[in-house]
Amino acid sequence: MRTLAAYKAHLREIGKLGSALTLLQWDQRTYIPSRANEARAETIGKLAKMTFELTVADKLGRYIEKLEKDESLSPQDRASVRVVAKDYRRNKAIPPDLFERFAVARSRSESAWEKARADSDFAAFRPHLEEMVDYSRQFAEYYGYTESPYDALIEGFEPGMTSREIRGIIAPLREKLVPFVKRLQTEGTRPNDTFLKGHFPAAGQRALSMRALEAMGYDFSAGRLDTTVHPFTTAIGPSDVRVTTRFLEDNLLSGLYSSLHEGGHGLYDQGIPAELDWTGLDQGSSFGIHESQSRTWENMIGRSQAFWSFFRPILVQTFPELSSVTADALWRASNVAEPSLIRVEADEVTYNFHIMLRFELEDELITGKIAVADLPELWRDAMTRYLGVTPKDDASGVLQDVHWSAAYFGYFPSYMLGNLYGAQLFAKLEKDMTDLGERIRRGDLAPIREWMREKVHRFGRILGPKELLKEVTGEEPDSSYFLRYVMKKYGEVYRLR
Ligand code: ZN
Repeated sequence: MRTLAAYKAHLREIGKLGSALTLLQWDQRTYIPSRANEARAETIGKLAKMTFELTVADKLGRYIEKLEKDESLSPQDRASVRVVAKDYRRNKAIPPDLFERFAVARSRSESAWEKARADSDFAAFRPHLEEMVDYSRQFAEYYGYTESPYDALIEGFEPGMTSREIRGIIAPLREKLVPFVKRLQTEGTRPNDTFLKGHFPAAGQRALSMRALEAMGYDFSAGRLDTTVHPFTTAIGPSDVRVTTRFLEDNLLSGLYSSLHEGGHGLYDQGIPAELDWTGLDQGSSFGIHESQSRTWENMIGRSQAFWSFFRPILVQTFPELSSVTADALWRASNVAEPSLIRVEADEVTYNFHIMLRFELEDELITGKIAVADLPELWRDAMTRYLGVTPKDDASGVLQDVHWSAAYFGYFPSYMLGNLYGAQLFAKLEKDMTDLGERIRRGDLAPIREWMREKVHRFGRILGPKELLKEVTGEEPDSSYFLRYVMKKYGEVYRLR
């Protein structure tokens, strides 16, 4: 038992340092005075290094080895040792000098990307991206894999998922959605959304977001809502999970949906039980499962007819100029689907295409089938094939996302999997809660949070994404739930026959 106590104490040390680090990062992305950035970056660098050193400490390795053989551990302690051991071995797999060279190159690559995107100059970014791909391929070899080096990278975001499986999940999506988007464009009636443009002061928008978060059951005594440029959610430590949003005064709903999205992430982190604090289990199951929570609140609930029955009176109270707009009109206007160039602005129907093309390019980059130099052209081809739109420059094409500049290969699939997992979980929720629509119409959203807490949140990282889905729905990841949901809803919104 002495080893177990020392192991837990070590994890608490990591947790406390990590908490301080996360708070500094939250501040950096919200309220820091601009001139303080440089010194803050150094402080953060120092704390990050100290935290990392604890996560790869030899003594932690010794604890893990001993505890892995200990049959007397409780199921929770065993789960903790399992996930901590996995992270530990992954962190240890990369030789420290290689990782240090990578960290320097990555920081250069990120700055180069920022400038290249501003100038729409892929050639300037290309050598950096080549370096990032090269490091990632080396890392994949160190991590190890069974079939494809890309799988070793996906593992860092979506444990247990492989590129072969993702290809299998994508195939029916692509087959059904490509013609469906065309049908919406040619046979559908596009909703009128002109009333979403206007002048809607941030203070009013903030009141709406607060009201929505309260209805969801977000706990303000253990969190807060702030504004930032790129909204995010961060779990700073026990009882401190903060969400951020962004209000565009010429756009009625973008801030509200951003708050619902981040609120979904926030509820997940707030729902992880206190007994998992600082055990390595106090996080979401995977990036994809986390995204399933945010997408469910943002899209499946927030963009439903029932939600607008509930929320329209609140909206009109804040912005009386909208008093002639019906709940039905709000529902339709919040569900416009249109091919577009930029992933982060894409709607529910077209979003997955943005991910498919990134997934396919990453897969071929990491397995060496294509070269970085070919990316701009391959990107344009894929956009034309999937969405029928072609970027005029690389800033709105291959250079639009930050991910590749930081070598986050394997991250994108999680966004798509989040949509699919979300629909699969939601189908089960609808089965379990027969009066779900009625509850949403009344604004009685707390039972949804409770259901998610019971079925998803309480496990933290004890279950991996596939195990969790199996536990809740009895099935493997299955894209048919998303397809049914999205085609039914948009068929109605666009009045398809
Ligand atoms: Zn998200």
